[in-house]
Amino acid sequence: VVILEGDLNLVEIFSSVQGEGTHAGASTLFIRFGECDLRCRWCDTPQSWKPTAECQIETERGAGAFRTLANPVSLSAAVAAVEALELESHRFVSFTGGEPLLQPEALRALARGLRGRGPRIYLETHGLCADALAEILGDIDVVSMDWKLASDVRRASDPRRGPVEDFHAAHEAFLRVALGAPEVMVKVVVTPTTGDAEIDEMTRRIARVEPEVPVIIQPVTPYGVVRETPSAKRLLALVARMERTLRDVRLIPQTHKLYGGP
Ligand code: SF4
Repeated sequence: VVILEGDLNLVEIFSSVQGEGTHAGASTLFIRFGECDLRCRWCDTPQSWKPTAECQIETERGAGAFRTLANPVSLSAAVAAVEALELESHRFVSFTGGEPLLQPEALRALARGLRGRGPRIYLETHGLCADALAEILGDIDVVSMDWKLASDVRRASDPRRGPVEDFHAAHEAFLRVALGAPEVMVKVVVTPTTGDAEIDEMTRRIARVEPEVPVIIQPVTPYGVVRETPSAKRLLALVARMERTLRDVRLIPQTHKLYGGP
């Protein structure tokens, strides 16, 4: 019997299909955590930046209808919500955000409560909280980490615009920890302003840690202030550039945007 304790700040729980990365197309139950300490220019979930008063819970698998639960949500209520969405019939449970690793203890308890019940436990993270990851790594099956590029991403605490902090060293440290999980992938969102120098620095650091790790180039889906995606020519050039150093580079757009999925 798993005893569940603690509270979570959640934005939503819903059933869908993974739209990103190497498991795109696989049925996935999403648990979106509230709060994020970054501000990506292209973020498509700004509703998750701050802890919210209520969590939206899909009422049955595929219904697209929601009820609300007040935050913080108890672990037992979160587990009951995913059970009502036919937990066992999904291939993955995704912890996403916001940034799940900002709530490490609740995340670990939830992962333990859901692991071994069918779906693999999949963590989607901005890839910067290495210490928190080390604490929970034993309860995660797949780590999908972002590699944030300073040309498009800043800290929420930093009001300045433009490249003010580079995240490379923190991502490299995170990747070293993440490789202790059964499966790891790195995802980099690229925009028309992504520069070769920052791509090269990322590539060099990933290769230094593990040149075989899957690295997904995800062309930005225009959202908010980002109006354009890179040209096909630019994307193919990036693949070729990164393949000089890395062995598993893939170009995968967000597939759920193609059919209007959540
Ligand atoms: S890390 Fe994720 S949730 Fe946070 S701002 Fe970036 S895209 Fe949005």
